[in-house]
Amino acid sequence: MTTRFGTAASRHVVSNLQKAGFEAVFVGGAVRDLLLGKVPTDIDIATSATPGQVKKVFRHTVDIGIEHGTILVLAPEPIEVTTFRTDVTYSDHRRPGEIAYTTSLKEDLQRRDFTINALAMTLDGELVDLFGGQADLEARVIRSVGNPYERFGEDALRILRALRFSAVLNFRIESETLNAMKQLAHELGHIAIERIKVEIDKLFQGVNPSKAFRYSRDIGLPSLFPELFSSFEQLERCAPFIHARHGWAAMLSIRDVSATELAHHFKLSKEEKRFLKQCEEALKLRTDRSFDELDVYYFSLDVLDVVERIRHAQYADGSIETLEQLTKRKSSLPIQTRADLAFTGTNLLEWSGLRGGKWTSEWIEKIEQAVVSGRIENDAQAIKEWFVYEISRKE
Ligand code: ATP
Ligand code: MG
Repeated sequence: MTTRFGTAASRHVVSNLQKAGFEAVFVGGAVRDLLLGKVPTDIDIATSATPGQVKKVFRHTVDIGIEHGTILVLAPEPIEVTTFRTDVTYSDHRRPGEIAYTTSLKEDLQRRDFTINALAMTLDGELVDLFGGQADLEARVIRSVGNPYERFGEDALRILRALRFSAVLNFRIESETLNAMKQLAHELGHIAIERIKVEIDKLFQGVNPSKAFRYSRDIGLPSLFPELFSSFEQLERCAPFIHARHGWAAMLSIRDVSATELAHHFKLSKEEKRFLKQCEEALKLRTDRSFDELDVYYFSLDVLDVVERIRHAQYADGSIETLEQLTKRKSSLPIQTRADLAFTGTNLLEWSGLRGGKWTSEWIEKIEQAVVSGRIENDAQAIKEWFVYEISRKE
């Protein structure tokens, strides 16, 4: 096999490490993706040089993960270079795993999770395949490197990674690997939620998340961890998802869980939490009725769209609106934001002869809603007439 692999910057990094007398290869996801005919995203390089030696070879580097042996080389594009290592892990899962550097590529590949992720490629495009990764790629199989019981025992996150790859690549999980996942699934309880969340995000974005949901049931995740995975029993109905956040929103509709609880369990970001809260509100409204003009105005298209999709998955009723229809409805609203209104707070003071106060913002909102729902035209004169009449009735 002679593929010219990698970007100019990543080839430059490999070549300079070699010139300095070290072994250096492309590894991991990028090699896997190349063999699958996909354009690799981030290219990882593994080398026999220690982090200190890598820093001597290149002038511009950043210590991004020096505790794992990873240095970012600015070439000038950022390229991750990781020293060959073997992982030393502890069985109580609480102490951080220690690492030991090695000059053996074989040992480095051996500590990797699955055969399809344990492939390396040299600068000349020669494939280093010590564990049958290429055959597994062709057979579309996820298989642990070595004994799966040991491998999941060392790091239970790999259980979730296997599910993630089944969704992303639409691969099946080899039966012994799956048995070991089932036997050790309870160990996921020791894994930091932040690591779990990263894998779930990727799983949601996969081409076939349903496959992962089915496997998760096979290995008993929903009953082992009801707070985290109970909705995995039924999420299949809502998949696939356009964005990971749509997967999280679908969890809201299935589990009897609030956005706040979900955000708390998975340590979601502030933005993700805000999105979920909006979806929660929109989902609640949508149980009783279709979205009206005010809903279309106040909620983002993303929220409206995902809520429609979730409803469709749940009830398969014909009355849902497509993103195209929602986009059209939103763009034909009389105004898009409050700034589009044909009056200001100062106008209200002039028209009423009153002094400013809390009432102004209340009336701005009233007028805004009347304009959005088509009860008044967005025209200063029309607004003035409506306002003067309405406020006189209230006095
Ligand atoms: P992606 O395309 O999502 O980046 P990836 O395979 O590159 O997929 P990463 O999480 O970026 O996945 O990890 C890079 C490589 O490091 C993997 O291909 C694998 O070889 C190894 N790896 C990552 N996490 C683990 C783990 N928990 N146990 C063993 N090996 C791992
Ligand atoms: Mg990667």
